[in-house]
Amino acid sequence: MTQTTPAGQFLCPHCGSDAEANIRTTLSVPMVESTHPWDPVFEMRHCNSCGTTTPAQLAERWGGIDDEEARRLWQTIFRESSPFKPFYWRPGSTREA
Ligand SMILES: [Zn+2]
Repeated sequence: MTQTTPAGQFLCPHCGSDAEANIRTTLSVPMVESTHPWDPVFEMRHCNSCGTTTPAQLAERWGGIDDEEARRLWQTIFRESSPFKPFYWRPGSTREA
């Protein structure tokens, strides 16, 4: 099933939710090594439903990619290598197991 959400509108490539958290992250300096898959990611979006942090280019589908492609890129490149824990951006809800 392929949805088409307009580019620039938040859609979580992890769970498919359109609930964007009330926070955005922009990096001014790289936070990973230059060989890391997340190295080109400076704009990030946060899903209010599953807590996943995703690259803005996937969550907002920059460069003409569609929902399916964003999801594929997330699953094949970014998900496993993500340096972020779910809901790390939400103060008070970071519970360590
Ligand atoms: Zn989500």
